[in-house]
Amino acid sequence: MAPHRLSRRNLLLASFLAAGTSGVTAKSHDRFSSGFRQIDDGVLPTLEFLSRVFRLEGDWLPDFSFFDDGERADARAEDPIPGFTRMHVKIGRRAVAETIKISSGDFGAALTGVFAHEFGHVYQYKKGYRKRLLDMDANASVRLVEIHSDFLAGWTLPQAWWIRKVSDLRVAAEQFFELGDIQFEAQGHHGTSLQRQTLMAAGYTWGLSSPDNPDKAAERGLAVIKDLFPQWFRS
Ligand SMILES: [Zn+2]
Repeated sequence: MAPHRLSRRNLLLASFLAAGTSGVTAKSHDRFSSGFRQIDDGVLPTLEFLSRVFRLEGDWLPDFSFFDDGERADARAEDPIPGFTRMHVKIGRRAVAETIKISSGDFGAALTGVFAHEFGHVYQYKKGYRKRLLDMDANASVRLVEIHSDFLAGWTLPQAWWIRKVSDLRVAAEQFFELGDIQFEAQGHHGTSLQRQTLMAAGYTWGLSSPDNPDKAAERGLAVIKDLFPQWFRS
């Protein structure tokens, strides 16, 4: 086993163990430091929460880091690099800063939406949804993958105890499409903001009554997308 992998794994596990304690402080270059103490205190519980609701264990627990995303706010779930088995969820520090700025203090819901969307991609990969959705897409684009992950992200939110108001969902939905991976592109490959908010709201609604099973949520999400956007599917 490569030492690099060991250290990444140990970091993650150590951090999970430290979640919930108040002693987690980080320097600005630390992979668990967004540059905002309020955010950093919530990161590890959020990672733990999302791993639990998506039932990600063992090598399916993704690595995590904040990274310097430069000029363009960015968030992504990267495939394992050669020699490694884990996916890697990366949230840009600019993405965090912009979310704080535009969410008027309600950043908890917005950031949970961002994290949940990326964890949704990990789940999709694990369960074969990514390939399935790419194969189904009439344009061979990523839009089905993206809006399916939006549904999954919405589905997780009612389970997050720190999100208590329906208005939190609005904050989450409005903010997180501004960011990186979730930013829709000029060609419209990712779907419009309204389409994506619709899917997130549908996921949220499903999550209110059916919070327990990610597999059922994923199938429901696919069914909703087929209902709403049949023209996006290969005939
Ligand atoms: Zn995405």
